[in-house]
Amino acid sequence: ARRIHSNEGAELLPRPPVVTVMGHVDHGKTSLLDALRQTSVAAKEAGGITQHLGAFVVDMSSGASITFLDTPGHAAFSAMRARGAAVTDIVVLVVAADDGVMRQTLEAMSHAKAANVPIVVAINKCDKPAANPDRVKIQLASEGLQLEEMGGDVQVVEVSAVQKTGLDNLEEALLLQAEMMNLKARIDGPAQAYVVEARLDKGRGPLATAIVKAGTLVCGQYVVIGSEWGRIRAIRDMIGKLAVQARPAMPVEIEGLKGLPMAGDDIIVVESEERAKMLSAGRKRKFEKDRLRKISE
Ligand code: GDP
Repeated sequence: ARRIHSNEGAELLPRPPVVTVMGHVDHGKTSLLDALRQTSVAAKEAGGITQHLGAFVVDMSSGASITFLDTPGHAAFSAMRARGAAVTDIVVLVVAADDGVMRQTLEAMSHAKAANVPIVVAINKCDKPAANPDRVKIQLASEGLQLEEMGGDVQVVEVSAVQKTGLDNLEEALLLQAEMMNLKARIDGPAQAYVVEARLDKGRGPLATAIVKAGTLVCGQYVVIGSEWGRIRAIRDMIGKLAVQARPAMPVEIEGLKGLPMAGDDIIVVESEERAKMLSAGRKRKFEKDRLRKISE
């Protein structure tokens, strides 16, 4: 296949970090994401009402922004890692200050480590009388996390998702982590993107939330998504506003797909409908072959 995208020689510009929240069940991932979502300017402008897109952006008063994947749990992260498409730059490891480190805390740590993604720890529920953040820090350190206050480089922030305290500190910590990583992306040229969530809408057909990794996704383009294809009919931002294009780290909902893709699928731009159909059919054959091989194994 002729590759129509290349990062060589292209100008690279700073891009926002893409962050995934992980941690043990009930430690407050959903609550924390809700609290963070409410800090975004877009949410404030929309009166707190945002679409559930599977991702959202927090714009800081400094002008910087952070993209959060809004699918807590390991599923999306694992799916993307399995496809070699690590869309996540940073993992926020949520640990409840009362419960401390639990089985899924350790699982999240090993996921992040395997994917070579740095962790920022959010010790949550610090408002609770039984909260013991120091105990959590000792537990994490004994599990091998090199905490900053012990001379390492893993930042720890104490928060309460319910009382909405410490959220600024968490956002600052994420920006600092991102700065150290020097995240950059090509802006010009065809997009390389990933699906973080997909759903079927009765009226609009298959919809996918996409995050662009490099380049710019433009309305009207032909795309191949996993083994599906389509022509982008509409691009919407997190408050449902129509956009002409999507740039790196900006989560958007795209419309105009012929079939339903899966979280973790890659999105590539192709030059024509024929090419889109051909690639999609080829990938369908390959996926089917892989599936049959797995069954027979
Ligand atoms: P998840 O399973 O990790 O997504 O956890 P949830 O966000 O659903 O939270 C589990 C429970 O803990 C809910 O009853 C929340 O109200 C509660 N919770 C979450 N964050 C906090 C917090 O900062 N303080 C207190 N006191 N409770 C919290």
